[in-house]
Amino acid sequence: MVEKGLKQALESWDSTGAGEELYQIASALYPICRSITGNGLRQSLRWLQKWVPLSLREVPSGTHVFDWVVPKEWNIRDAYLRNSKGERVVDFQKCNLHVVNYSIPVSQKIRLVELRKNLFTLPDTPDWIPYRTSYYKETWGFCLSHRQLENLADEEYEVRIDSTLEPGSLTYGEFRIQGETDDEVLISSHSCHPSLCNDNLSGMVVAAKLAQYLSRSSLRYSYRFLWIPGTIGAITWLARNEPALSHIKHGLVLSCVGDPGRFTYKRSRRGKAEIDRTVEYVLRHFRREFDVLDFSPQGYDERQYCSPGINLPVGCFMRTPSGKYPQYHTSADDLTLITQPALAESLHRLLHVVDVLEKNHHYLNLNPKCEPQLGRRGLYRQMGGTNNSGVEEAMLWLLNLSDGDQSLLDIAERSKLDFWSLNKAAEILVKHDLLRRVEASGGRATGHRTS
Ligand code: ZN
Repeated sequence: MVEKGLKQALESWDSTGAGEELYQIASALYPICRSITGNGLRQSLRWLQKWVPLSLREVPSGTHVFDWVVPKEWNIRDAYLRNSKGERVVDFQKCNLHVVNYSIPVSQKIRLVELRKNLFTLPDTPDWIPYRTSYYKETWGFCLSHRQLENLADEEYEVRIDSTLEPGSLTYGEFRIQGETDDEVLISSHSCHPSLCNDNLSGMVVAAKLAQYLSRSSLRYSYRFLWIPGTIGAITWLARNEPALSHIKHGLVLSCVGDPGRFTYKRSRRGKAEIDRTVEYVLRHFRREFDVLDFSPQGYDERQYCSPGINLPVGCFMRTPSGKYPQYHTSADDLTLITQPALAESLHRLLHVVDVLEKNHHYLNLNPKCEPQLGRRGLYRQMGGTNNSGVEEAMLWLLNLSDGDQSLLDIAERSKLDFWSLNKAAEILVKHDLLRRVEASGGRATGHRTS
C-alpha cells in the first residue's frame, strides 16, 4: 500500500478507512487513566508513536513556568469503596472516572454520612458518572452515578485510593516536521483527560493522523504538533519555547472533533488572521452549516496561545463545543458519542485547511498594463461569445488582483471563485510567464519589475 501524503490523501480520500483507523486508535486509548502528569499520559503518548514518531518531553515538578509551577506527578494504581460485605461498590478498575483525578492517597473506614462530602454525582442524569479533577488543591473524592449513590446502604465503607502524588515531571508529546521554511504551523491538542472520548481523545487521534499524512509530504511550512496536558501543558511549552514563538505563523487547537455535530470554529484573538480566514473559507467551501465564534478567554489552550503577551494566531477547531453537549465531562462522553464518519470528516477538513495554507501564495502580474493577450497564448476562448470554462474567469481575476499584496485566498474571497480553481489558473499563468510568485511584501523583497 502506498503511504499517503497530503496530496494523495486529498486526491483519493478514503473516508471509511480513515474513520475506522481513527476510531480504532481512540478505542485503544480510551481505557487509559490520563491526567496532567503521570504514567497514563506517557503510555498514551507512547501508543501514538505507532502513528507518529513524537518525542516525549519531561519537565520536572517545581519548574516555574510564567506565573505557574509544574505540579507534582500523580499516579494511580487502584481505588474503591468497599461495603461491609466486602463488595467493591465503586471501583476504579471498572471506570477511571470514579476517582477525582489527582486524588491524594486514602486508606480509611468512613460512614456514608461522612463519606458523602467526598462523593460527586449528577442527579439530573442519574446513570452518568461525572468527571472531576483537583489538580491544585490536595484532596480526594469519588465520582459515581446518582443511582449508585442512592443504592449505598447507610453503613461504614472501606475507602481506598492507591495513588501517589510526588515530585516527578510533567510529560508532553512534541513532533516537528521541517518544511521548506522555518515558518511554522502549530497544532495542539490537550491530552490529559482520562476515559473521555470527544474531549479529547478525538483531538489527540485526529492530530496524530494529520501529523502522519504531513510527515509524508513535501511542505512549504514546518509543522509542530503538541499533545499536552490542558492549561499547564500549554503554559509550560510556551514558557520553554518563548524565543522561537515568532516562527509560528498559524495555529489550531483541536478539541471535540469526534461527535457528529456541526463544525464550530473559534477565531484567534486576532480575529482576522490568515488561519481564521482559512478555516472559515474551508468550512464554507463544503456548504454545510457551521458556527463561528469570536475569541473569548474561556475554552481550551487557545486561552494561553492567545494571551496578550503571546498573542499567536491560534484558533480552536471543534465540532460541538465543550459544554454544549450534555455528555460533556461525564462518562457518557464515551465511544458511542464519537463516530467514524465524524472523525474522518474532521480530519478531511483539516487536510483542506493545511492545503489552503500551503497554497495561499502571493503573485505578481508581470504584464500589468492592460490585459495580456491571452488568445495569442492559447489561454482564451478561441471563438468570441462562448465561455467554456471558469478557468478564464479565474485567470482574469488573478491578473487583475495579483499586485503582490493580495494572496490567493484574498482573491478567492473577493471573486467568489473557488480557491483551488484559482490555484490551478495561477499555475498556468506562471507557466506562461504572466504571473510570478512573490513574498507577501507586495513583491518588493523579490525585485518587483516596474517597467
Ligand atoms: Zn475537558
